Amino acid sequence: MPGGLPGDRPDTPDLLDRHGRTARDLRVSLTDRCNLRCHYCMPPEGLPWLDRAEVLTDAEVVRLVRLAVRDLGVREVRFTGGEPLLRKGLEEIVAATTRLRTTTGEPVRTSLTTNGIGLDRRAAGLAEAGLTRVNVSLDTLRPDRFAAITRRDRLTDVLAGLQAAAATGLAPVKVNAVLLRGTNDDEAGDLLRWALEAGYRLRFIEQMPLDPHGSWQRDQMVTADEILAALHREFRLVARPGTARGAAPAETWDVVDADGTHRGDVGIIGSVTRPFCGDCDRTRLTADGQVRTCLFSTTETDLRQALRSGADDAALADAWRTAMWGKLPGHDIDDPAFLHPTRPMSAIGG
Ligand code: SAM
Repeated sequence: MPGGLPGDRPDTPDLLDRHGRTARDLRVSLTDRCNLRCHYCMPPEGLPWLDRAEVLTDAEVVRLVRLAVRDLGVREVRFTGGEPLLRKGLEEIVAATTRLRTTTGEPVRTSLTTNGIGLDRRAAGLAEAGLTRVNVSLDTLRPDRFAAITRRDRLTDVLAGLQAAAATGLAPVKVNAVLLRGTNDDEAGDLLRWALEAGYRLRFIEQMPLDPHGSWQRDQMVTADEILAALHREFRLVARPGTARGAAPAETWDVVDADGTHRGDVGIIGSVTRPFCGDCDRTRLTADGQVRTCLFSTTETDLRQALRSGADDAALADAWRTAMWGKLPGHDIDDPAFLHPTRPMSAIGG
């Protein structure tokens, strides 16, 4: 293996860290821009966007994804943002990714995290490009609340996007919802009923300290326990047997009728109160080509600068390996000394 790697690192190509984890799941942000302004994610005026020249080109994204899959042991690639559907070359990037084979010879699993706006027009093309599935973010089913949370009146577009994804076979279609105290925290049951009827798999995500103003407060967050208690009041939930969630962030419950009929499932991602850092298998690439080992990292490794200065694949791979070797054991959100990352969620890639 070429030099430049930390001396205490085992001689292996995979993305190991010092705490026994191996990254297999790559999150790629394709843009920092978004067409919604969810108030827990972005200010009304938007953010100081990256210059076009700072954003990786399609060819640069594909080169780094190829490197991750071919040389670094990545097996799953999720495209996100900002809003990834705003990226013109998305279908081409997905198609280039799905042509790759993992180091174990299997097809790469690909997915998209999106707000769903415009997905009705793009779902078929994405499926044709080989996309495996989508996660659509939707926090409320009420148009007035949707407009208040996202500062845009686009609920109908999101619902159309969801239907198109399901009709096109981008399955399972997952829905991600964040409950916000005093805004939509009474909607857990309604969201689950709707998702079960439509055949979507609902995942609640605890709100994390990733807002642009640093105004997140632990005691204001709707916790996994509260969500679960609200769901238990309306549904019969059975924890998945032996539910070691592994690297999957969601804890999952089966929803069953009184006669035992299985109606679907629901997940809760308790990133704050039930952190899964010990099993984390993620690595992240921002739209401007920075490797982050965690959503909450305070440091980044600049692959864009390296690749634009002529670094070859071996050097880029070693820079990525070195970054991952330094991954911290956990995000420490609950530690009083916790530092908010300087980038908000939309600029990291959620
Ligand atoms: N625009 C795409 C979307 O809406 O899914 C992808 C990016 S968005 C940042 C990804 C997810 O992050 C969304 O489900 C959003 O609700 C979630 N999110 C944003 N800020 C968050 C926060 N502070 N805590 C928890 N989830 C957050």
